[in-house]
Order: sequence, then C-alpha cells, then structure tokens
Amino acid sequence: MRFKLCVLAGSSKGNSIFLRIDDDRFLIDAGISNRKIEKALKELKEPDPSELTGILITHEHLDHIKGLKTLIKKYQVKCWVTYETYLKLRPKTGPIDTEFIEVAEPFSIGMVEFLPYEIPHDAVDPVAYVITKDNLRIGILLDCGKTSAYLFDGFRNLDVLIIEANHSFDQLLSSSYPTALKQRILSSEGHLSNWHTAEFVNEVKPKLVVITHISENNNTPEIVLSEIEERVDFLGGNYKPFFVVVPSKEKGAVISFNKK
Ligand SMILES: [Zn+2]
Ligand SMILES: [Zn+2]
Repeated sequence: MRFKLCVLAGSSKGNSIFLRIDDDRFLIDAGISNRKIEKALKELKEPDPSELTGILITHEHLDHIKGLKTLIKKYQVKCWVTYETYLKLRPKTGPIDTEFIEVAEPFSIGMVEFLPYEIPHDAVDPVAYVITKDNLRIGILLDCGKTSAYLFDGFRNLDVLIIEANHSFDQLLSSSYPTALKQRILSSEGHLSNWHTAEFVNEVKPKLVVITHISENNNTPEIVLSEIEERVDFLGGNYKPFFVVVPSKEKGAVISFNKK
C-alpha cells in the first residue's frame, strides 16, 4: 500500500492537509487559497483538485475553509462534513455537494475508512479523524482544547499522528496577546499546548508524529521539539517517536512510504 502525506499549510493563517492512500486522494481542510492548493498539488506531482476523491472539513473556522468556496466551484469535489458544520459553511461557500457525517459513525470514501471523533473546540461541531485502510492507521487531531481518555483510546496504534501543538504555555502567558485571547486559546475549547501534545503522543505512542498548527507568535519549531521531546522523554521511558514539525509559514515535508 502506498501512502503519501503533505501538510500544505499548518498555522492559524491556514490549514490544509493532502493525503494519498494508493489511488485515493484527499484534502483535510481547505484553509488556504485555491491557487495555493493548486500550486502545492502540482509541486507534489499530483493531479489537479478535480481528481480528489474527497474533501473533509474538520470545522468551520476560517483558517480551515478559506479556499473551499473557490475550490468546489471550480472543481466540483464532494465534501464530507457534519450537518451542523455544513449549516455554518453554506452561507460562506454557497451550495456544496455534501455527504453528511456523524461522530462515531465510520464511513468510507473510495477504499479508505474514516472514523470521526468529537473534540472540544469553540466551533459548532468540530471533529478529529482516524483514517484506515487495511493495516494502515492515520490520526488527524487539529484544533482541540483538551485531550481525554476517549481520544486516547481511539488514537492508539497509529502509523502517523498529525496533531496540533499550538503554543508554548510559558510563551503564551508572557506574550502581548490580550487577556481574552489568551483565555480563549488556553480554555478547554481552545488549542493544545506543546505539553498537551506531548502527553497525548506519549499516551497513544504513534510511530511518526507530524506536528502542525504551531503559533507564529507563541511557538517555534525548535521550542515545539524541545518541549515535546523533553516531556515525552520524562513520561515515556524508552518510547522514542520520530517527529516532523511543519513550520508555520512553510509547507510541510512530503512523507511517503509503502506498507505491506
Ligand atoms: Zn485552526
Ligand atoms: Zn479552530
């Protein structure tokens, strides 16, 4: 089985993940312009967006849907979203060719299976995904205020975990952000800190961790790695995952492998 992944963008300015499993191609979120998505797919030597098997939207925040309107107008690709999220998207995007999904209800697109998980975040019905085909297991956990045993249980035994590590707790606290914004980010419906992410990683022990959605102001790839590795090391004994960090202003590395 061939697997290919690239975080096309991962920050509070825009998020979109390209995922290919054999001949099925997906976008998770379309929070960058259609032009940037087209360019990124070309750089990946992938066909244009008309060949996508599907688009999945995690939640309605602008940094996850910015390019969606133009993308679906130009390419008529079907979207998989919850009904509540659809109601929020519809006024911004116009008609969407949609399949409705529900938390805890698995569904297939092409040859790939998806299981959506409910997550705490200040959007109407945000979801995370565990994506499987045969013995391949991928987890995607983006904007999320806190983790839980429910998520730990669902996200074990992953080949790849794509997860946000939004901020360094200390950096956010000492930043010039207004108090209300700090409170929003730190709340249980806000974003995961480096420490949250380290605890999650240590709990579910994926083979590869792709860290994304890092704050431009309250985190850096170096701080992410040092805070997470230090914490996982402290918690995890001899568990040594492999980390890839997506810089907030650049496309992530292309990750591809074959799995038998
Ligand atoms: Zn976001
Ligand atoms: Zn969000």
